[in-house]
Amino acid sequence: MTNLIQGKTGEWEVVIGLEVHAQVISEAKLFSGAATAFGAEPNTQVSLVDAAMPGMLPVLNRFVVEQAVKSGLGLNARINRHSVFERKNFFYPDLPPGYQISQYLEPIVGEGRVVLDLPDGATREVGIERLHMEQDAGKSLHDQHPSQTYIDLNRAGVTLMEIVSSPDMRSPEEAGAYVRKLRSILRYLGTCDGNMEEGSMRCDVNVSVCRPGEPFGTRTETKNVNSIRFVMQAIEVEAKRQVALLEDGSQVVQETRLFDAAKGRTRAMRSKEEAHDYRYFPDPDLLPLELDPAWVEQIRASLPELPDAKKARFMADFGLPAYDAGVLVAERETAEFYEAVVAGKRDSKAAANWVTGEYFGALNRTGKSLESAPVDADGLGGLLDLIADKTISGRIAKEVFDLMWETGKGAAAIVAEKGLKQITDTGAIEGILDEIIAGAPDQVAQFKSGNEKVLGWFVGQAMKATQGKANPGLVNQLLRQKLGK
Ligand code: ADP
Ligand code: MG
Repeated sequence: MTNLIQGKTGEWEVVIGLEVHAQVISEAKLFSGAATAFGAEPNTQVSLVDAAMPGMLPVLNRFVVEQAVKSGLGLNARINRHSVFERKNFFYPDLPPGYQISQYLEPIVGEGRVVLDLPDGATREVGIERLHMEQDAGKSLHDQHPSQTYIDLNRAGVTLMEIVSSPDMRSPEEAGAYVRKLRSILRYLGTCDGNMEEGSMRCDVNVSVCRPGEPFGTRTETKNVNSIRFVMQAIEVEAKRQVALLEDGSQVVQETRLFDAAKGRTRAMRSKEEAHDYRYFPDPDLLPLELDPAWVEQIRASLPELPDAKKARFMADFGLPAYDAGVLVAERETAEFYEAVVAGKRDSKAAANWVTGEYFGALNRTGKSLESAPVDADGLGGLLDLIADKTISGRIAKEVFDLMWETGKGAAAIVAEKGLKQITDTGAIEGILDEIIAGAPDQVAQFKSGNEKVLGWFVGQAMKATQGKANPGLVNQLLRQKLGK
């Protein structure tokens, strides 16, 4: 899927590379034992290391390293046995030491790849250039006092993984699919909760434009975009801005920009800093990180089944189309729910339709999660059984499902209580059809003269007469017999 932009002077291609900052799930920080829980009282989770008191020394958190290795393996990436922590020097009020400990020349994870699931069911690969660990900064609070800024250091020293993609994406949709997939993989692994609202995942969006097939243009980097929708919007508006500039004979300046969601545009923040501006150098307080290959293999063996493997299995074992399988495996909980509905015995396609259709629809409509939903996997399975054994029709089943959602009762109980059992008694249906046919000589004549569509009208009448309970297959079959076809 490409998405060329039509300009005044012809078509342009958009080139996108994303840098995602993902906060690592860990109870303690990268180099200190201070807690990381979100939403704590300001400055209650700050150790002397995080506050950069003189003489304090960083101690690497082994669990965090394991999380980074896991993430690298999940991205099909090379794990570097040897990596180095470096100081990235810059001043910011919420960065007490005046530098951030990061990885630069030798990151813990090298090249990898992520497979995108596109809306039309197609897939596309995006390269990963690297994943490195670094410290997050604290937070400046500008809204606590009319004339002063407060600093909260709870976040200072929390671990981030910076995951850098190759410039492989060509449309906002692909970038959206990339962030969704990355988020899904990290959530499966349990290495990042992917909560973009709380800032656990933030994106720097690199965009350039060029003529199709020509070398890449100059890129801008739009910082800290915090939702998938905004990532897509930022790309759209930034690419159009660049096309307009180039078509007017000006140039794109390599710079750092900000996305203003309210105004729906990007604006310049600062000129692009160069790596040498940061005076990177290996942190003298930390030895290079050497990984034991046996330990890495142990982590590899402990990985859960990841979305791509699960999707392939759902397609092979359940006969699902790529799109449905992709939707079902996006979240581990959803995939498990689906498997519990099928329970090794039910029609897997019908189950997929019900889970992604009615069930997800009800979750969205009522703002519930799988845990808080009034209908569980067994409950939905019970409803599917009633459809399968023809106790109720698919149409009535939707009504039953809504009642299950409202009341929390089982499908069988609702069908019994409301008398919704399907009418499969041939004699009863015939009686009803005879009456309808007798009262509709015009429609009968139309049908006999070859108008097939009138059949639908007859079916509708029969359904109305039985409040939807007549077996639709049987109604059709008997109608054709009676109307002489
Ligand atoms: P920096 O330190 O400047 O942020 P990184 O190497 O961390 O550099 O990240 C650069 C990002 O920019 C990568 O995601 C890469 O894919 C992307 N990128 C590089 N060149 C282009 C380009 N011409 N157009 C769009 N994105 C690009
Ligand atoms: Mg970068």
